[in-house]
Amino acid sequence: MISSVLIANRGEIACRVIRTAKRLGIRTVAVHSEADRDALFVRMADEAHPIGPPEPRDSYLRIDRIVEAARLSSVEAIHPGYGFLSERAEFAEACAENGIVFVGPPASAIRAMGLKDAAKALVAAAGVPVVPGYHGSRQEAEFLRQKAYEIGYPVLIKAVAGGGGKGMRRVDKAIDFEAALGSAQREAASAFGDSRVLVEKYVLSPRHIEMQIFGDSHGEVVHLFERDCSLQRRHQKVIEEAPAPGMSAEMRDAMGRAAVEAGRSVGYVGAGTVEFIADAREGLRPDRFFFMEMNTRLQVEHPVTEAITGFDLVELQFRVASGEPLPFGQADVAAHGHAVEARLYAEDPEREFLPSTAKLWALRLPEGDDVRVDTGVVEGDTVTPFYDPMIAKVIARGPDREAALDRLAAALRDTVVAGPKTNAAFLRELCLAPDFRAGRFDTGFIDQNLKALSTAPRGTTERAVTLGAMKLLDAEGRAPPPHGWPASPWDATDAFQIVGSREQILPILVDGTRSDVGLSWPDGKLEIAYESARARFSDRAELGRDAVFAPGPDGFFVLEAGRQTLVAPFDPFAIDLEHLDAGDSIAAPMHGKLVAVFVAPGDRVEKGQRLAIVEAMKMEHGLVAPRDGEVAEILAEAGAQVAEGARLITLAPVGE
Ligand code: ADP
Repeated sequence: MISSVLIANRGEIACRVIRTAKRLGIRTVAVHSEADRDALFVRMADEAHPIGPPEPRDSYLRIDRIVEAARLSSVEAIHPGYGFLSERAEFAEACAENGIVFVGPPASAIRAMGLKDAAKALVAAAGVPVVPGYHGSRQEAEFLRQKAYEIGYPVLIKAVAGGGGKGMRRVDKAIDFEAALGSAQREAASAFGDSRVLVEKYVLSPRHIEMQIFGDSHGEVVHLFERDCSLQRRHQKVIEEAPAPGMSAEMRDAMGRAAVEAGRSVGYVGAGTVEFIADAREGLRPDRFFFMEMNTRLQVEHPVTEAITGFDLVELQFRVASGEPLPFGQADVAAHGHAVEARLYAEDPEREFLPSTAKLWALRLPEGDDVRVDTGVVEGDTVTPFYDPMIAKVIARGPDREAALDRLAAALRDTVVAGPKTNAAFLRELCLAPDFRAGRFDTGFIDQNLKALSTAPRGTTERAVTLGAMKLLDAEGRAPPPHGWPASPWDATDAFQIVGSREQILPILVDGTRSDVGLSWPDGKLEIAYESARARFSDRAELGRDAVFAPGPDGFFVLEAGRQTLVAPFDPFAIDLEHLDAGDSIAAPMHGKLVAVFVAPGDRVEKGQRLAIVEAMKMEHGLVAPRDGEVAEILAEAGAQVAEGARLITLAPVGE
């Protein structure tokens, strides 16, 4: 068995690999970017080496620096995790050249599966069903359109070098083909440096079902059952489970054999995943699934397989990489119960799932016998724009699917995150969605049900504001505890009784916007009014009953039903009064990079005009003028990293 390993990754997967390594007595070495200097995985490792600036291309994608760190720390092996360099054949080769064990398949297998067209041809030759389509090398629009016609609409155009759903377009009619082809090719060229595409049949009622396989260096390849990853948004997995609902033993057998065959065809060693798309129009059928691609690494969703099989996949990876044979054969693999994983993200479902990078002012992740949480952050850490904004994976299991989904829903309800917005409430709604629970779903489920899943912007929760205001008063000692809050501040100083419902106005900031709440003491109990909400408080215990509070910047986050509202005291001197009107300033919507500024001080702009672009998580967000006016100041330069909420451009006040 290897005795030391460097983890060429970060975040939750680095922590997860380190955990198993420690249990096995393997010395662990972390490599980290400047942004991750104090990260949990760095603290967990026995040793850590800085490898460069935050941007992945300068750190986590630098093969030379990582191999150098491995040599300096004289480790025997490198575990690549997922993402980053995990599927780069050159990385596996660089390890081999330096006498380091790569915890993964041989470079040749990575290469064989790296391009979708070649992988398809290879597995088709091994007798594995592939989606009907054109996987050849010709790329002329006219030729591909003819192929699409022969395949029959709807078709899917896919980048040959694709990944992460990029360069993928569904086309329903011949007339739309050319435009879709052009945009898929452009996206593929910019994302992968390779514009080539393939065209295949768009499978109707598609279910994404993948098989976990494992090979050893003695020629054995087995499968560890399937995972269903059909709940997706923009072709990205959101919830994964094992086993797949509605999967018969016969189909599992057929898919398992196909997956093992695909692995054998490339001499696979280690953990791999063979992804299939199933046509579920008439339920799952053994003759209606097709190979999509193979991922030659550990998968994000591997914990659901661990939960039902009882294996530690990272331990198996270490054993196989050490040259040991798999400690079991296909007949020994059994599944028990059901497991579901949800990916908890720092993103805002009410703003089209925009990444919501910010400091984690509060982070309380669920625990319990049948709940597993894999995370790489702790309270006080910051979710930065440099990496995937996943906060944690929450995995629940139970004797059956219903029990597992119930436990996951409960775990998500008990999850407390303040600072970044999260998809916790959205995930919980998914767990509870009747059609999903009944097994009536395909990969279109989330898109078709977006409205019902409460992703529409809902504005401020009025009740949360009243609770937040109460909490502020309590914290400042303005509401007189501990005997409850029966009296008004006036009562406390003199015996003068105010007749009628006279209100005191308390100025506050609600999510950064100036607001007022009204305080009054009808029948001696404090009442706080905000918009149409009125809340009465007679004792402190009431406060904690409906909401969770977390201290935030200046004030408190009120967390209620998966939403957060930040309520802070309004301090007129702390605020730049000149720019109080949001209409005068344009702020960064999230942490990111200011990639372009299109205006200069003195320019006249029109409402809605694009003024600048901020890039975060590889997505561009245009910043537009909130009104007609003149640019007063530009407060950041193109190329600069900007913090969420930072003012970037101001307009001259009206009338100047
Ligand atoms: P990527 O490598 O970009 O992630 P995949 O080939 O793995 O792309 O496909 C991603 C998702 O796109 C699948 O999970 C599935 O939801 C959908 N998809 C892919 N191929 C098809 C197809 N032929 N028909 C219908 N949906 C498909």
